[in-house]
Amino acid sequence: MKILVAVKRVIDYNVKVRVKADQSDVDLNNVKMALNPFCEIAVEEAVRLKEKGTAEEVVVVSIGPKACQEQIRTALALGADRGIHIEADTTPDSLAVAKLLKAVVADEQPDLVILGKQSIDSDNNQTGQMLGALTGMPQGTFASEVVVNDGKVDVTREVDGGLQTVRLTLPAIVTTDLRLNEPRYASLPNIMKAKRKPLDVKTPADLGVDTASNVRLLKAEPPAERSAGVRVADVAELVEKLKNEAKVL
Ligand code: AMP
Repeated sequence: MKILVAVKRVIDYNVKVRVKADQSDVDLNNVKMALNPFCEIAVEEAVRLKEKGTAEEVVVVSIGPKACQEQIRTALALGADRGIHIEADTTPDSLAVAKLLKAVVADEQPDLVILGKQSIDSDNNQTGQMLGALTGMPQGTFASEVVVNDGKVDVTREVDGGLQTVRLTLPAIVTTDLRLNEPRYASLPNIMKAKRKPLDVKTPADLGVDTASNVRLLKAEPPAERSAGVRVADVAELVEKLKNEAKVL
């Protein structure tokens, strides 16, 4: 079985995001970037399936600027076998990413495609679903458990108020939720080995995909600053302030 994992380069989750002075977008200058955490979970799940003997090959694909190759190398250090980088000047929008992934699926013919449920930068939560729509492959989103057996995959999904298990016929798409697994850390020898693993570079034109977007970012705004707290002398003063200043009592 071959598994294709889509991985995205995003701002590291520890970084306090800044907005550009002209509010045209988030400022990515000198900002630490990382593998999207949900994609890390996707790589971990694929590698575990390979370690169990369920899968023979794990291929990772990332779409965006040349620097995405850092995140592909991270995924290779975590245990993936081979990488594909689809180079674009900027990260295309979700529909274009889904179209490019569809073309990679057509080339690679994977049995299972694993994506994160969501990118932590754009919070879209739509690429896996769009890929499902474009390819007609069955999809199990928000997976907290994945069991592959006999040409099928059982995906336990985290839904409001509980869990739901769906059985999909392979080839299928799974998107990962937070509780699916706890990703490992890459060891130094594996980081070194990853440098020699194959990484193919293609362009959207090679795949015959037009990445022009119908979505325009109009404005980015940082969240409102929280005002500083005040120290009160006693409960009476607190109650007085809640009543007369905050007017919540
Ligand atoms: P989103 O729909 O943007 O929230 O992303 C959901 C998932 O789609 C991510 O966790 C990735 O697995 C995949 N994905 C989104 N954008 C890209 C990209 N530029 N390259 C590779 N995979 C991506």
